[in-house]
Order: sequence, then structure tokens, then C-alpha cells
Amino acid sequence: MNEFDLIRRYFAGQGPQRDDVPLGIGDDAALLAAPAGQMLATTVDTLQAGVHFPLDTSADDIGHKALAVNLSDLAAMGATPAWVTLALSLPAVDEAWLAAFARGFFDLARQYDVQLVGGDTTRGPLSITVQAQGFVPQAEALTRAGAQVGDGVFVTGTLGDAGAGLAIVQGLLRAEDAVRDNLLARLNRPEPRIAAGLALRGVATAAIDVSDGLGQDLGHILSASGVGAELQVDGLPLSPALRASGVDSPWRLAASAGDDYELCVTLPPGAERTLHDLGCPLTRIGRIVTEPGLRWRDAEGRDVDAPLRGYDHFAERRHEDSKS
Ligand code: ADP
Ligand code: MG
Repeated sequence: MNEFDLIRRYFAGQGPQRDDVPLGIGDDAALLAAPAGQMLATTVDTLQAGVHFPLDTSADDIGHKALAVNLSDLAAMGATPAWVTLALSLPAVDEAWLAAFARGFFDLARQYDVQLVGGDTTRGPLSITVQAQGFVPQAEALTRAGAQVGDGVFVTGTLGDAGAGLAIVQGLLRAEDAVRDNLLARLNRPEPRIAAGLALRGVATAAIDVSDGLGQDLGHILSASGVGAELQVDGLPLSPALRASGVDSPWRLAASAGDDYELCVTLPPGAERTLHDLGCPLTRIGRIVTEPGLRWRDAEGRDVDAPLRGYDHFAERRHEDSKS
């Protein structure tokens, strides 16, 4: 099978075919009709085997995740996703792998009416680059820069699940089957918070998606906005699976582990009551203050040490395990 057979069989004509794509896959470039009066939001992310997903991740999970992490960036801008391109570097043509990859990719693309409009296919170490584009009215776009003193800090869904899933993959955490499946799904099949991003646009003062850990990602909002924040460690939303996993101080994982792809947003006082359905829970975890930097507080208002990064947390555990 040559490069063109591969593109024809697995990618051309697959998934949604949108009216605003007069010319998609098959020419030197795609021709796209952006809606008048809206901004084009554009983002790109590369996933490298062994770095951005564990080496033994299934091809359909990789297909899903490569698209999901990009749609998550659009969600964090308050954009409606529309078009994607896909640059694939493959060590060999493995048809079973390609079929599964395309299934994971297009199942998610269908869910959000996203069309694959072009790409590039080369031979090399496994690497997947997806570029995604969406639309947002300029005045309603969510950026990192608008958080105001007095705003509440909120997150969608639950945090720490993907970090616990990674610990399971790494053999650092063992959990019963149902809990394990749940946490691995959060790691391998992140759900981009598109509906939440749309409901929050024009309302949230700042937004970011939590890909590298809450502390680090909220830090980007704080520096872009020139403010600080106080967070309640007891207020972090934890899933039943994470609570049942037996991990030590799950809040540390929720505060620092990456790959959850929830949204962290700031909202003016009372604004959460005006929001339409986000499609997921929204939890208040703290507030924006004048003093720069991020401070963590326990239920009694005492300072808590900034949590370690999730991976380091488990490196410590591993050390403890090897001692016993
Ligand atoms: P060119 O050499 O002109 O860049 P290619 O031969 O690389 O074109 O690609 C042919 C067509 O197939 C183009 O429309 C390109 O966008 C599309 N394409 C290539 N690889 C992929 C892929 N992995 N997914 C989707 N479209 C692809
Ligand atoms: Mg090319």
C-alpha cells in the first residue's frame, strides 16, 4: 500500500463532511469558508509515543487523544470546533493499527461535527500532529489574561484521575478493576469540554485547559492577568474512582497531575448562577487576589505546601515501596 492508498482508505471522505469545506483532502491545500464576523481560533499539538502517551496505548485511544487534546484547546478559547488537519509519522504501514487509529479519531470527530480537511503522511518514529480550527466571536473569546481580583476560580469535572491512571500504567498504583478502568479511560480518552467552553464564553474572565496540572496551568492565568490566587485544597473536585483508588492524599494529584483536560476558569461574583448547562459539574475552588502567586489553604485557612508534581509524588512512593 502506498502513501496515497493509505490516505484514500483511512482518511479521505471519513467522518463529517461540512458545508463550509468547498475543497477538502486531495488537493495541494484545502479551501475553507470561515463564517463572516467571527475569529478563527487555531491550535496545534504533537503527540509523541512514549512522551505524550504510554508506548502500549491502543491505536484507537491514540486517535481519540490526538484529536481530544486539540479540541480541548479550542474549548478553552470558547471556540466551536470545525476543521482539523493531521500530520502522521508512522514507522511502518500497519493496517490494523491505522484502522483502529482512524476509528478513535473519527468517532470523536463525529461527536463534534469536525471535518478532517488535510494532512501529511511520512515514515518515521510514531508521532501524531493535529491542528484544529474553530470559530468564536472576537468579543466572547476566552483568554488567559482577564482574571480580576474578587473573581472565583472554578474547574469543570474532576481532577487527578488521569494522573492516577498514569500511575497505574507505570505500575505505581494498583486498584480494583472498575476503578482501574475508570482512571485509565480518563488518561486515554479525555473528553474535551466543548459545551462548557461555549457556555462560559462571554461570561468567564479567563480560561485555560488543565493539561499540565492545575497549579501550573492556573499559574499561566495568574501571570497573564497580573493577579494571584488562593485555593482550597479541600474544595478540589475528586471523582469516586480517585477516592476509591487508595492513592495517598488524592488532592495532591488533583492539584498537580496533568492530562485531565478539564477547564479552569475565573468568574465574576455571582456569574455561575447565570450559566447555561455546561454538560459537566463546575466547582468553585478558590478566589483571585491581588498578591501575585498561588497559595493553597486547608479547611481551617492554614497555608499548605505547594503540591509536588504528580510524577514526583509517585517517584517518592516508589522509593518507599522499594524500602519495604
Ligand atoms: P503535497 O505533496 O502536495 O503536500 P500530499 O501528497 O502530502 O500533498 O497529500 C495529498 C493530499 O492528502 C493532500 O490534500 C493532503 O492534505 C492529504 N493528506 C495527506 N496525508 C493526510 C493525512 N494523514 N490525513 C488527512 N489528509 C492527508
Ligand atoms: Mg505532503
